[in-house]
Amino acid sequence: MRHMPAVLVVEDEPAIAELIAVNLRHNGFRTTWAMDSASAEREIEASVPDLILLDWMLPGETGLMLARRWRASARCKAVPIIMLTARGDEADRVAGLDAGADDYIAKPFSTKELLARVRAVLRRKAPEPEGALLQVNALTLDPATYRVAFGDQALKLGPTEFKLLQFFMGSPERVHSRAQLLDKVWGDHVYIEERTVDVHVKRLREALGPAGPMVETVRGAGYRLTAKPAVTLSSVLAERPQVPTTQPSV
Ligand code: CA
Repeated sequence: MRHMPAVLVVEDEPAIAELIAVNLRHNGFRTTWAMDSASAEREIEASVPDLILLDWMLPGETGLMLARRWRASARCKAVPIIMLTARGDEADRVAGLDAGADDYIAKPFSTKELLARVRAVLRRKAPEPEGALLQVNALTLDPATYRVAFGDQALKLGPTEFKLLQFFMGSPERVHSRAQLLDKVWGDHVYIEERTVDVHVKRLREALGPAGPMVETVRGAGYRLTAKPAVTLSSVLAERPQVPTTQPSV
């Protein structure tokens, strides 16, 4: 039987939640609805969804606060989050992405756009069929187990950062423009702005910790992954505090 992706819709307005749920169900998704943060937590406790559609403005805790918490939680960190927001300006959108959302949809939205974004985010999350272990310098990425490590240090990456790193590691040293990254990593980028790439590159660098300098900005051209960053890894490794090795994220 075909896997029907489960989508948790966190939205306090019943009419909007119903519109979303009906459209998703007609297109092969299972949906559950939570109208506030407490019921959303209960749904997640019962079953981890494949994707969360998260309204920004909720009674009590905001969607932004929830996105931050879920992205940091062991249970939810690999679950893609799409924020629903009436806030249209760029600063707010970037705040949503910075909080850990993988994409956002501005209200009012068309159901066609909603479905396109849901499918695109799930595609990004899906493991690549060609699952060879990638290695650049001490950085390793195993698509089969979804593990990333730098030396013996396991690194925790969100789904979009994982896909981005996997793409970078497939052609190290090569410079990719933002448009190329959108095309290769996001694929269905009809609704995504190039600024989104910058936000995810920043998050990728942070998640890589000591290996962060390997992701270089090439002024006027884009980004690349290099085995020999301007800031040498040996000096970073020598200076980095000893941290206990943690279980890699799944
Ligand atoms: Ca709302």
